[in-house]
Amino acid sequence: MKLLTFRGGIHPPEKKELARESQIIRLDPPKIAYVFLANHAGAPAKCVVEENQHVRTGQVIGEPAGFISGYVHSPVTGIVKKIDKVYHPLQGKPMEAVVIERTSEDDWEYLDHKDWEKLSREELLEVVKKAGIVGLGGAMFPTHVKLNPPKDKKIDTLIINAAECEPYLTIDHRLMLEKAEDFIEGIRIVMKILQVQKSFVGVESNKLDAYKHLKSIVGSEEIEVKLLKTKYPQGAEKQLIYAITGRKVPVGGLPMDVGVVVQNVQTVIAIKHAVVDRKPLVERGLTVSGEGINKPANVIARIGTTVNQLIELAGGLKEEAERVILGGPMTGIAINRLDIPILKGTSGITVLLKEKQPVQKNCIRCTKCVVACPMGLQPYLLYLLSNKRKYDEAVSEGLMSCIECGACAYICPSKIDHVRAIKLAKKVYQALRGGRK
Ligand code: SF4
Ligand code: SF4
Repeated sequence: MKLLTFRGGIHPPEKKELARESQIIRLDPPKIAYVFLANHAGAPAKCVVEENQHVRTGQVIGEPAGFISGYVHSPVTGIVKKIDKVYHPLQGKPMEAVVIERTSEDDWEYLDHKDWEKLSREELLEVVKKAGIVGLGGAMFPTHVKLNPPKDKKIDTLIINAAECEPYLTIDHRLMLEKAEDFIEGIRIVMKILQVQKSFVGVESNKLDAYKHLKSIVGSEEIEVKLLKTKYPQGAEKQLIYAITGRKVPVGGLPMDVGVVVQNVQTVIAIKHAVVDRKPLVERGLTVSGEGINKPANVIARIGTTVNQLIELAGGLKEEAERVILGGPMTGIAINRLDIPILKGTSGITVLLKEKQPVQKNCIRCTKCVVACPMGLQPYLLYLLSNKRKYDEAVSEGLMSCIECGACAYICPSKIDHVRAIKLAKKVYQALRGGRK
């Protein structure tokens, strides 16, 4: 069978075997939940609860504070202890969080719609918004915005990113095996919202059991399950769209420019729970894995649970554990404390051992990074220009097209951290450009 793919990319050790056979465990709701108001891309939500207020599971505690923003809900039933500043791993600084002490079993506050099958496209979009659903692949972009592109963008295709191409992570794989009916129902709801007749589910060839299982239950031609080559970053939007449809998203463009919307496995399942079961987004699945973890696991945990609790559930850290990463090793963020709460976008916790290979410092012009780059860029040059603060030149070399996949840094024999330099250069360039307006 021909496997679909894209140009470039790398083959890091998959390491999926550590957790892929572990059935999903549901972690008890935490005794104390730390829920960031910045639990999505865009403006942090506006807090609508006070200290000492009783809240129910699913009750709104934050309302959107702008067009790109989202609702935030209590993940437990209890008392608001504090509205406090807590270290936010993505922002790299303390941010406002609602600290809730759980006092009883869940007493749910459900979303208030009825007869979901009779809801219009607009009403379904409102449910997705009210449920606080964001891109659960990690980007945390509000889903109700993504599912409502401007009128002049004609969408004809939905693609579900089921590649899960990051090493170690296996939660989407397990969800496709264990919650496949919810997944397929979620896809049908998203198709109704987008009013498209065709959707594709892109599964990497290292998840053959999930591919076969989905194919056996889909039961219609509207949803086609496609097998992708196992290669990193197969799940990046532009690479996925090209592999499945052959369409190329233009430089600086978005999937909607080629008539496509991409959604993640868990986002689609969350939409099913919101629309059908009337449950807002208060929990997510994630993988806790890596050579530094005693018992790698796939877990469903409430938003606001700390990394500590998840590591404990997975048998604790090994003595030789060196690096804890929120997410996978390619695009995740290394953290140096374990009391950090998980966000809606936390797809995993990866714990690695100390690296053994010697580290060189200088570029030896081997061009491995150029061959690996899925965007056809010259990463060594972007690194150089970024470090020399030649931002305009870096932009004309494609700086803004970099999808920050980390393939270049992974493959580099000199262990050069291109992504850190590129991310910083993008930020500075955008700030300078904003200042010039
Ligand atoms: S330059 Fe950007 S897109 Fe290319 S490999 Fe490096 S991180 Fe990925
Ligand atoms: S892979 Fe590393 S050493 Fe090789 S050209 Fe790229 S930056 Fe230089």
